[in-house]
Amino acid sequence: CYRKGGYHAVRVADTFASGRYVAQRKLGWGQFSTVWLAFDTQTQKYVGLKIQKSAPEFAQSAQREIEVLSAIANGDASNSRCVVRLIDRFKHIGPNGQHWCMVLEFLGDNVLQLIRYNRYKGLGLDKVKEICKCVLTGLDYLHRELGIIHTDLKPENILLLSTINPSKDPVKSGMTPILEKPEGNPIGGVAMSAIERKLKQRAKRAVAKISSRRASMGGLVQAPKPDRCLDGIDMRCKIVDFGNACWDSNKFAEEIQTRQYRSPEVILQSGYSFSADMWSFACIAFELATGEMMFAPKGAQGFSEDEDHLALMMEVLGKMPRKIAIGGLRSKNYFDRHGDLKRIRRLKYCTLERLLVDKFKLSDTDARELAEFLCPILDFAPDKRPTAQQCLQHPWLNTKNLISESSIEKANV
Ligand code: ATP
Ligand code: MG
Ligand code: MG
Repeated sequence: CYRKGGYHAVRVADTFASGRYVAQRKLGWGQFSTVWLAFDTQTQKYVGLKIQKSAPEFAQSAQREIEVLSAIANGDASNSRCVVRLIDRFKHIGPNGQHWCMVLEFLGDNVLQLIRYNRYKGLGLDKVKEICKCVLTGLDYLHRELGIIHTDLKPENILLLSTINPSKDPVKSGMTPILEKPEGNPIGGVAMSAIERKLKQRAKRAVAKISSRRASMGGLVQAPKPDRCLDGIDMRCKIVDFGNACWDSNKFAEEIQTRQYRSPEVILQSGYSFSADMWSFACIAFELATGEMMFAPKGAQGFSEDEDHLALMMEVLGKMPRKIAIGGLRSKNYFDRHGDLKRIRRLKYCTLERLLVDKFKLSDTDARELAEFLCPILDFAPDKRPTAQQCLQHPWLNTKNLISESSIEKANV
């Protein structure tokens, strides 16, 4: 992808915008861009530098993203609405072409990394609630105040706040910016995040502890449980990646959302709005709580990925009402006139609550409460889904799980 029209190759200490920003380390990448930690020599702060691929379609999407991010920043003077802040933007010319660059506030790990650090076991429900509250705060702002649909909500696009306070003097916060080209001038690797560092230290300590205990007692000692690694980490986060966002009044694409987070109305092409983001949100909340994707469809001989996806939805959420099933431009591809799937006939129904208990070992109470929160958001009828504002009022988000029964049960399994 580092070719004409593609990514811009960056080396540590490369400068941008006439020397203002100095590249430090790669933070992440996506289909459209690479994102670098950079040092802003003007404000003496760290920033995230998103460098878009250069081909015209990527340039167009960057321009849209900048337009959306500008609207977001203009409406949120206090930067408190849980959406990433655009600081600056410019074009950079490199060997692969002209790249749009966005300077963003520097944020921490994305939530998919968090799920991975926890070895796909699901985060504690209190942490899930904290993340949900931030995402809903962001969505409420986007939807109700700005009329913007994100259209690509997924764990990779939700970022924790950086554990290094970027507003502080970077020297005092323990990071000295690299301003000179290091010897050999390597292409910077992905930065080790605070959580990763903590995990590595824990693992080292655990190994040391185990070997010393083994030496003294001879027995096997269990390593610490992964969820403890996240203890004490503030779970505040922000929504990022507005490369596919649109205005409800001005949509750019019929096919939106990443597969697993795609809503039924988008699959069936029956028209979408803000509530499509709410569907993705519910899928993310499930994934945070369980460590597994809510719907992971696979195509196979005889049926497509779309059909498998619709079948998986109905197995957990019940049969799709006929009117909705047959109401989309693409309905005829998948449903007969009775509203039954044409090619997948036998569905294995299991309610969300049962699934959470049987497969994911949540306690009865935790499972019932989580299902009561999620099921209305996963209504097949988009208009019936609660808004982000309504979700924020839900009692589930506003009660603490004092002792997480699920984690006790998990520990016993
Ligand atoms: P996609 O393929 O999802 O469209 P993209 O190319 O549009 O991705 P982003 O999603 O904006 O790029 O960013 C890619 C990754 O870079 C994120 O998942 C995240 O890990 C990291 N990242 C993005 N913005 C920041 C930021 N402001 N601070 C720290 N890391 C960031
Ligand atoms: Mg992304
Ligand atoms: Mg994107």
